[in-house]
Amino acid sequence: MYAFVLAVLYFTIVGLFAISMFCLSKWGGRLQTFLFFNCVSHLVYNCAYVLILHAKNQDTYVTALKIGYLGRVWVGLAMTLFVAELCGKQFPRIAKISAGVVNMVVYLFILNLEKTKLYYKQMEFVMNGDFPTLPHSGGLLYYFFTILNLFYAYACMHLIIAAFVREKNKTAKKRNLLVLIALTSMCLSYIIYFFKLIPLARIFDVMIIAYAICTAMMLISIIKYKMLDASSAAKNYAVDELSEGIIVVDADDHVSYCNNPALRMFPQLAENDPSYVKIHKLLDDFEFAILSGEPVKSNGRIYTPRSKQLLEDGVRVGTLYSLSDDSDHYRYMEELREQKRIADQANRAKSRFLANMSHEIRTPINAVLGFNEMIARECDKVVSTGEPVSPAAKEALGNIGTYSENIGGAGNNLLSIINSILDLSKIEAGKMDLTEDAYLLKTLLKDITGMTRFRAEEKGLAFVTEVEETLPGTLYGDMVRIRQVLTNVLTNSVKYTDKGTVWLTVRAKEAKPYQEGQMLTLSFTIRDTGIGIREEDMQKLFGSFERLEMNRNSTIEGTGLGLAISHQLVSMMGGTIEAQSEYGTGSTFTIHLPQKIVKCDPIGNFSAKAEKAKKNEPYHVSFTAPDAKILAVDDTNLNLKLIKALLRDTELSIDTADGGREALSLCMQNAYDLILMDQRMPNMDGIETMKQIHVQEGGQNHETPVICMTADAIIGSRERYLEEGFDDYLSKPIKAAELEQMLIKHLRDLCHIRG
Ligand code: ADP
Repeated sequence: MYAFVLAVLYFTIVGLFAISMFCLSKWGGRLQTFLFFNCVSHLVYNCAYVLILHAKNQDTYVTALKIGYLGRVWVGLAMTLFVAELCGKQFPRIAKISAGVVNMVVYLFILNLEKTKLYYKQMEFVMNGDFPTLPHSGGLLYYFFTILNLFYAYACMHLIIAAFVREKNKTAKKRNLLVLIALTSMCLSYIIYFFKLIPLARIFDVMIIAYAICTAMMLISIIKYKMLDASSAAKNYAVDELSEGIIVVDADDHVSYCNNPALRMFPQLAENDPSYVKIHKLLDDFEFAILSGEPVKSNGRIYTPRSKQLLEDGVRVGTLYSLSDDSDHYRYMEELREQKRIADQANRAKSRFLANMSHEIRTPINAVLGFNEMIARECDKVVSTGEPVSPAAKEALGNIGTYSENIGGAGNNLLSIINSILDLSKIEAGKMDLTEDAYLLKTLLKDITGMTRFRAEEKGLAFVTEVEETLPGTLYGDMVRIRQVLTNVLTNSVKYTDKGTVWLTVRAKEAKPYQEGQMLTLSFTIRDTGIGIREEDMQKLFGSFERLEMNRNSTIEGTGLGLAISHQLVSMMGGTIEAQSEYGTGSTFTIHLPQKIVKCDPIGNFSAKAEKAKKNEPYHVSFTAPDAKILAVDDTNLNLKLIKALLRDTELSIDTADGGREALSLCMQNAYDLILMDQRMPNMDGIETMKQIHVQEGGQNHETPVICMTADAIIGSRERYLEEGFDDYLSKPIKAAELEQMLIKHLRDLCHIRG
């Protein structure tokens, strides 16, 4: 028997030594480290047990025992760490350190076991045949250490059984089975050793048999099932080095693997045995995030989860979750959102500023242009009477006429610049609306060609129009905006051409015959023999405030907004605008606009009918209405004077009020045929005054049409004021002709129209 035990010991020692060497040769992963630790602790005890078997007295026995315990105290912990690693579980660092400290304290007491009597209360050396033995009764620490080892045994069995049951890979399952056999043998032998269940347990430590079985199992695992295969260690290493967190759950949603980044992201995974509820909650969060596209937050960081079903033979065996840390990306997006919010705020402030500025600038221009018109009318009146005037007076009248013309030109220019800025801010605020209606193509073309011909001829340029005769005469679209775009491009061609010709060609992309309701792509080509555009400037052409070649064009008036607005308007209408140019030779702008056909009657020969714009025709009043009585309301006295002056020849009876209150009191006393109402007034604004007039108790103007006059030309004003209850809308600065047309429209029965 003695020889058998010695043989078992030598086998174990050689086996453990081989495994240790193997571990060293494959050094790198945690599994190797824990297995090595395990082997060394067993090795130390087995070597010491050889010494024990040779002990001749109590002293040599106890000394050898103390050497043996140097390894044996670590056996339970080393085994547990190794099994946990094999099963893909990890213990928190603090738990490992605490267990190590406990083992060292236990060993210190074992070193002094004769003095403290805490480990062995009593012991006595007895030779049992060939076997030296040390019957003893255990002390407090002995029982504590036994319980600790039972706990380790329980933890190992629990982990390996769970891993064995859920493992689907056949090789890994067999490997786990070997470890399970080893552990079972250790547990059984421990119980036999502790309770001395067989007689042999009284003469030698039966645990060494279990250690031998354990060693054999390990060797088979390593040789046959490649337990320490470098590639699996490398895989683990690589997966731990990823920046992504990887979590693998089995078919029952138990975590079977997670790499280091995942443990750092979700520390709850590192708990000794993370509760099923916690893991379930985490997995639910992942699934919800994947479905909703929202990220998952943990410890102040933001992760984007993705999942992949793991299938074997078409059956789900688990799920792999990968989590990328997108905190920086989300932080950056958050910053961008914040910057956008600030920019939007600034943009709104800019729009408000523009609206205010437009009002402030338009009001004085209103007065300047209006009174300038009065100057021109007075001059014309004196000249048209035919009464003799002195040569000096005649010259003065001529000069005044020219000055007034210049004031009118500069004033209108200023107005068009303000209008451009307002248009752009409307477009930027997304509040530019298209007002589509049926229109005559001929009217559109007449408007633009008349004005262009006049400007071109003033500069000595030829203006040639070519319009396809078969184009349908009535179309549906926003004529005002199309006119704005074409006017801008044509004006540019005239502005940037010193000599030669400007051509306008209008065609349809689609071939005849046309049908009512069909969409037609109108194609306008505007070509000039002007200064041209450099190739490198072409991409800046449609940008806001981009004026090209400022040195060369500094004398030409412009804001650099026209093409930007045109480009935006054309896009809003679903069309395109393109430019081609040869520097020094000329440019060609092509605009394609989809328009609906209302009537197919062809437009006919248009070019021949192009009309020249009339210039400064003497003023003639368009109607008189001596029986009509109107009320004009404005807080600026100058504007009231201007309205009266502009309408002097219409013989209208005009009352004026400088605010809402005065207007209301006049409305109690008089019944008016029409009320002209300024919108922006202190105390009571135009809308409020209009509403009160309509419901005024004892008032005489509940049904009287009220026309809104405002310099607030920004953002769909017309629609807004009509919605508020006004009957019509006049934009300031008020033009005499527009005002008269408005009065004719609403006072039709009372007006005597003049030819
Ligand atoms: P601007 O008010 O300055 O004319 P636009 O936006 O209409 O602004 O045009 C932008 C710039 O494009 C102009 O300043 C000019 O340099 C150039 N440009 C536009 N049309 C022509 C053209 N037909 N020939 C040469 N240059 C042109």
